[in-house]
Amino acid sequence: MKKYVDVIVPLPIAGQYTYALPPEWETEVRMGCRVVVPFGKKKYYTAIVTRVHDTPPEAYETKEVSEILDKQPALLEHQYAFWQWLADYYLCTLGDVYKAAMPSGMKLESETLVVYNPDFEAAEPLPEKEQRVLDLLSADPEQCVTQLEKASGIKHLLPVIKSLLDKEAIHVKEELKRVYKPRTEARVRLTDAMSNERNLRFQFDLLARAPKQLALLMKYIELSGWTQPGNPPKEVTRKALLDAAGASSAALNELIAKKVFEVYFQEIGRLTQSNVDTLPLNTLSPAQQQAYTGILNCFREKNVCLLHGVTASGKTEIYIHLINQTIKTGKQVLYLLPEIALTTQITERLKRVFGNRLGIYHSKFPDAERVEIWRKQLSEHDYDVILGVRSSVFLPFRRLGLVIVDEEHENTYKQQEPAPRYHARNAAIMLASMFGAKTLLGTATPSIETYYNATHGKYGLVTLTERHQNIRLPHIELVDIKELARKKYMTAQFSPLLLQKVREALENKEQVILFQNRRGFAPMIECRICGWVPRCKNCDVSLTYHKGLNQLTCHYCGYTYQVPKSCPACGGTELMNRGFGTEKIEDDIKTLFPEARVARMDLDTTRTRTAYEKIIADFEEGKTDILIGTQMVSKGLDFDRVSVVGILNADSMLNYPDFRSYERAFQLMAQVAGRAGRKNKQGLVILQTKSPDLPLIRQVIANDYNRLYQDQLAERSLFKYPPFYRLIYVYLKHRKEDVLDQAADLMATYLRSGLGERILGPDKPPVARVQTLYIKKIVIKIEQTVSMKKVRSYLVQVQRSVIEDERFRSLVVYYDVDPM
Ligand code: ADP
Ligand code: ZN
Ligand code: ZN
Repeated sequence: MKKYVDVIVPLPIAGQYTYALPPEWETEVRMGCRVVVPFGKKKYYTAIVTRVHDTPPEAYETKEVSEILDKQPALLEHQYAFWQWLADYYLCTLGDVYKAAMPSGMKLESETLVVYNPDFEAAEPLPEKEQRVLDLLSADPEQCVTQLEKASGIKHLLPVIKSLLDKEAIHVKEELKRVYKPRTEARVRLTDAMSNERNLRFQFDLLARAPKQLALLMKYIELSGWTQPGNPPKEVTRKALLDAAGASSAALNELIAKKVFEVYFQEIGRLTQSNVDTLPLNTLSPAQQQAYTGILNCFREKNVCLLHGVTASGKTEIYIHLINQTIKTGKQVLYLLPEIALTTQITERLKRVFGNRLGIYHSKFPDAERVEIWRKQLSEHDYDVILGVRSSVFLPFRRLGLVIVDEEHENTYKQQEPAPRYHARNAAIMLASMFGAKTLLGTATPSIETYYNATHGKYGLVTLTERHQNIRLPHIELVDIKELARKKYMTAQFSPLLLQKVREALENKEQVILFQNRRGFAPMIECRICGWVPRCKNCDVSLTYHKGLNQLTCHYCGYTYQVPKSCPACGGTELMNRGFGTEKIEDDIKTLFPEARVARMDLDTTRTRTAYEKIIADFEEGKTDILIGTQMVSKGLDFDRVSVVGILNADSMLNYPDFRSYERAFQLMAQVAGRAGRKNKQGLVILQTKSPDLPLIRQVIANDYNRLYQDQLAERSLFKYPPFYRLIYVYLKHRKEDVLDQAADLMATYLRSGLGERILGPDKPPVARVQTLYIKKIVIKIEQTVSMKKVRSYLVQVQRSVIEDERFRSLVVYYDVDPM
């Protein structure tokens, strides 16, 4: 009987497609294997098989699978179940999930751009087709698969591309250029003929007239420890030899031509490090021990536990003990961190204890490396512990026993763009439950939702109120900058007290962190005469001024503009900066403290992972005195010499039109304050604000999370927000504003007919036009008691009937479930 497969294609289309399976592959293909399928006009995609069966679809004529890529599933059953849950819950397609979940190298398609790897050296001659493709690429190093298909005349190119990728002769083109570590390494050894002392001596004499070559040979003998034939020499890499001898490759090539040396290639595998000596665990303090036991007890009854521990209380130490305990029983651990909190600091701390059993999954790793981790997790030699960012919830696991979500309150756990707009914390809890595993959420400043769950019996709750070794929490000093500005006592953004404390810290050789929740030089420029402000032509936002580049940038679409010489509205030439970003703070600080070494950490200075790590390392090693930064400086960093933290303007965090802005402001300030005085001395935080009487400011000063929680909870209940209500935002986009308005009104009317008062809007969101598309938003607020399943299917139904209307063919509709 003829066999068929249902597959997921990496496209945002609902449903799965059925393809016919050529008879020769019938026994080879299983659920989770990747296949290449034709789709649309002459396009090919890597698709994932979800089912093998023998019922042809009724609606369409099937095409045939063109190739199979896996003999063993690349997607495990648990993962597939998880994908289905995500697509369902977050109202997106399986294709969306597939695209987000798998590294690019595993989901090649006709449109994939591939790039030639100039460092590639073949270990053996390549198959003819591969060589043909590689030749094409060496002539033009960046081409898409379709282009290569045409040029090479090879019909099914994806398998050839896959093979070249596996050999790392080519890479998948990515957004960011990254430094590439080769997976094979060229090494040098003596040829067999040279491996006896007599021939070697003879060679020495011959080389007397070629001192460079002689030096190279001598260096090799030294590095390899070669003394006697039969005594195996140490391996010497080509690079190490050339570096040590200070020689050029010309000298080496001469010696290779003379058959003294030969070069061979050794697989090194980025992931296999030499055995790391691991250290024993730190002993937990009595308070930590109590929390640890508390968590274990809690896991007897509950699947999720919140560890609410002040900054530097040793939460990480407790995680390490829990991980140790879990892997002893043969289970795996997933340890999630927000993107920017995943630093060398934490990696090294875990490496020291878990050595090779620890794998790290970072979104800034090259794609090939992510592919390798994925494969490793499918193999027998999978990592026991994965430390990773949001997207590591997608990795294959088979023995998951524990998930740790550190800094659970972090809003970057929520993916904003593109779909699936998932929350990694909530998704991780779901993932864990599919394995019967436990989840530990850790933070010093819990999200209101999590704290609600933890105090209403859904999750367990364990608290740690003291810092390790009883170091005191920092003292927070309030400064009313409104009053000071009125009396003209402010120097730029700095109060006299802050300047004095910075000066004292510098004199005592201590460090300072200045926190400003805004990057750029000034958020915008403005015409002094008519008030004109430059705006992005694609998006409905004002542009940010970057002094270093002397450019205006749109933070939504990334478009840059020249700074106009005069105001296009009135012709005035006085365009002035308004507001204070990190870049401006840096400028002012350098003027005020010319002798201080200053660094800035924000999105603009940390485009690459290395830039980011370097800023941290320099500060850690005392090469920097003052670190100025956005919220990035608040993320779980552990510095020893910071005595003063300045929060330059608390108000900039409070004025967001968002029901979470107070919660977030509290979290940010508490986290930044936590960087002060971690060891041997109580730290000082100078909190500058124009609203000193605000209850929130008092809560921050007293580090009174409970009051904050009570206040916020009351508001949330009053205004129908989480945790009492569930939010869904419906976004509609269209090129034409009037069409969009009609569509949004129609959709809202349909929704109201079924959901009534729960529907708000449509409204223009704060940024009502992005990348030339107009946007409207409908808000849905649903009681926790209403079945989400019903709501979801109702939404899908409404969307279908709106899109059916001819006028709204090119309307884009998407959802943000549990928006942040
Ligand atoms: P948190 O994760 O709560 O911020 P950490 O685990 O990072 O706290 O601990 C803060 C500092 O105290 C770290 O430098 C850590 O190494 C040290 N520390 C905490 N607990 C212990 C312990 N039991 N033994 C040794 N050092 C500890
Ligand atoms: Zn823009
Ligand atoms: Zn003007």
